[in-house]
Amino acid sequence: MTEGIPEKADFEKALNAWFREAEQEENPFVDIRADELHARVGDYPGPFHRMATCCEVMYENYHPAVDKIMQFPPKGKGASMEIRYALPRTPAKPVPSVQPQAETFTVKCEYCHGTGRDVRNLHAQEQPCPAPGCGKEKNGLHILPGKQDDYQECKTCKGSGAKSLKAKKSQPGANLYQPCPDCNGTGIKLKAN
Ligand SMILES: [Zn+2]
Ligand SMILES: [Zn+2]
Repeated sequence: MTEGIPEKADFEKALNAWFREAEQEENPFVDIRADELHARVGDYPGPFHRMATCCEVMYENYHPAVDKIMQFPPKGKGASMEIRYALPRTPAKPVPSVQPQAETFTVKCEYCHGTGRDVRNLHAQEQPCPAPGCGKEKNGLHILPGKQDDYQECKTCKGSGAKSLKAKKSQPGANLYQPCPDCNGTGIKLKAN
């Protein structure tokens, strides 16, 4: 601990050390009070000098899914704040609040009929599907945000996922189709709000 006023990092260290101790005792949880955590770091120059920082660190490590707030001080931050942390902590330092798992769904790629290859263009059937999000990334499938109910047929391609190009059909090797640029070959689009 550095001399002087405790820093946020000091509280983080102390909290993690506490977690490790409790994990070694194989407790299923550990109750940590802000004043006790603060005491571990020291309370120079006066009692609970950095209580707000201490509580902040406790909050940052609090995961509503598994942890429980036992005591909530009236002002949100205070010595009496107590959190029951589920053990073991995994990982010790979680990625700061990842957005709550965004909802996604999977649809077959219309452009390539789920083959993952550019089957629309006869000469390119061995090539990966050129639709963004399909092909090499995802073989014949697309992962789209939201729910399928939020989507409707793409008007541009009428759900086919393909756009025909004005290539000269006589020209060998020319692509006659490309993935619909409006729906990336999925054939569906988010309904307008
Ligand atoms: Zn595809
Ligand atoms: Zn389309």
